[in-house]
Amino acid sequence: MSRRIWFSALAMAGGSFCLISAVKVTVLYDNTIHTPGTRADWGFSCLIESSGHTLLFDTGTLPYILADNAKKAGVDLGAIPQVVISHGHRDHFGGLPAVLRVASRGIRVYIPPNLPEAMRQKIAAAGGTAVVPQNPLTLEGGMMTTGFLGDGIPEQGLILMTGKQNVLITGCSHPGIVNMVRQARTIIKANVDVVLGGFHLAGHSQKAVTDIIRQFRLLGVRRAGPTHCTGEAAIDAFRKAYGKNFIAMGVGRVLELE
Ligand SMILES: [Zn+2]
Ligand SMILES: [Zn+2]
Repeated sequence: MSRRIWFSALAMAGGSFCLISAVKVTVLYDNTIHTPGTRADWGFSCLIESSGHTLLFDTGTLPYILADNAKKAGVDLGAIPQVVISHGHRDHFGGLPAVLRVASRGIRVYIPPNLPEAMRQKIAAAGGTAVVPQNPLTLEGGMMTTGFLGDGIPEQGLILMTGKQNVLITGCSHPGIVNMVRQARTIIKANVDVVLGGFHLAGHSQKAVTDIIRQFRLLGVRRAGPTHCTGEAAIDAFRKAYGKNFIAMGVGRVLELE
């Protein structure tokens, strides 16, 4: 932890905020493959490592696929002390038992309010603690949740600030990807430079996707890594619009963000 600063928006959440010098994101579950030998399946999960701290964001759908991809990526699921589940859909929490099976007692899981009771019981049985964050929350390693958004399916994203760039990671973006970017900006009082994850744009018209890309630009998003439920047509539109600043995701993808 290099510097510790306070944001007024965080005083509301009762949290302090620290900048992290560098962050490594490893995609462990996605609809597509980046590294040969890994398995693709519908769902999303990535491991975040920063300043010696580790966090798993979402877990994909099937425990054995998460475990398999983690092994191929050289990730020890038993060494993960904290997990953030973006929302209560199985393609984001279904793989959690693969982590709980090998987790140390005391693992903390930040869950949506509508996580099925059976999964809460599995967390408790593993000696873990399930927490439903009411507000944006600062976690170990200077990572931060956005708090839950949306009138329909409540969903939280994850914010990382390296000091040079601010990163937002989303699961499915059911509350709207632009709304999630806006929420993150409000919390950190700065632009979100990089957005990664599911943008939930499958089925959106080309015009709607073009408008979302325009709003990304207006909001200052410099790099985008849409994947999972974003839909192929929308991913292509982002690839064309962002050019060299488009981030291709997929299982096995490792991003080092300075
Ligand atoms: Zn979903
Ligand atoms: Zn999803």
